Amino acid sequence: MSNSASKIDFATELEAAVVAVRDAASVCKSVQQNLVSAATLEKKDRSPVTVADFASQALVCSSLAQSSKIAEVVGEENAAELREAGAEDTREKVVEHVRHVRGADISPDQALDWIDLGGVEPDDSTERYWTLDPIDGTKGFLRGEQYVIALGLIEHGRVVLGVLGCPNLPGPDGQTGCLVTAVRGQGSEIRPLMGTGRDGASRIRVSDITTTAAARFCESVESGHSDQGQSAQIASLLEITEEPVRVDSQAKYAIVAQGDAQIYLRLPTSSTYREKIWDHAAGMIVVEEAGGRVTDARGFPLDYGHGRMLDNNSGVIATNGPIHDAVLAAVAQVLGIG
Ligand code: AMP
Ligand code: MG
Repeated sequence: MSNSASKIDFATELEAAVVAVRDAASVCKSVQQNLVSAATLEKKDRSPVTVADFASQALVCSSLAQSSKIAEVVGEENAAELREAGAEDTREKVVEHVRHVRGADISPDQALDWIDLGGVEPDDSTERYWTLDPIDGTKGFLRGEQYVIALGLIEHGRVVLGVLGCPNLPGPDGQTGCLVTAVRGQGSEIRPLMGTGRDGASRIRVSDITTTAAARFCESVESGHSDQGQSAQIASLLEITEEPVRVDSQAKYAIVAQGDAQIYLRLPTSSTYREKIWDHAAGMIVVEEAGGRVTDARGFPLDYGHGRMLDNNSGVIATNGPIHDAVLAAVAQVLGIG
């Protein structure tokens, strides 16, 4: 079905995305909880995150296939490696998690086919598509810390809707876990991670500070994902005295959108790395709709017109808005650009 034929109702699509992310979050949470209590963490065994990653993508894709009018999903994972000989053990565990949510009669082939629904390669003719990171921040997941399930909707190269399922970020109900959502032109909201529909939802806004000296910034825990030496120099130029908030995943965007920090710096560690659309689409719209600004390190808008990568961009800077130009000026000075 061509998705250009029908007008998309964003309220319906938002709730479809929320249901999909909640299904995936339930599995990710239980895998992470078992992981932290088991010896896997010390052994640095990545297999639990691999299982949760695949199961999460299967659940989001199957849920969207049922309740969304938009069939195309650009997901981070595909089932090719699970179909190979030797992967039986992982495959079995993935299927087990999928069955736990979708029912005991789900066949292994069905579960793998759901994962592969996320294999769309977007091009100019793909008017609308979802983009999914089934577990963003796998390092944080393994450490028992922050990770998110990130689902964004892109229409004609513009992000129009985003949902961040954040199982370990504080929620509006005082419990651990929240969902942060945004629809273009309609603002950003936070609601409990688990629950029914919009129950407990409230609007979120970025911080309203106008001077950088009062700002807190967040960045990756992983120094390989963002240059922490350069961010320290930028902070110093901006007279920021607070220590950086180091957090894995797009939880950083959720933190800026709620006003708990004012800046998210993602500074390239290599000139050849290209950011992936699923690492930014949902987070970006959540900050923008909460009143903030998001650009790359040079101040250019993130350009979603190049398939799976942000080919025209380098780095990412998100702020509350009023301090964005000052942050870009300091970034340009330290990176020697502009
Ligand atoms: P974070 O949790 O913010 O450190 O980001 C996690 C994401 O970083 C993963 O989803 C990867 O897609 C992405 N990533 C992997 N290598 C790099 C790199 N060299 N620079 C920037 N991001 C990367
Ligand atoms: Mg990711």
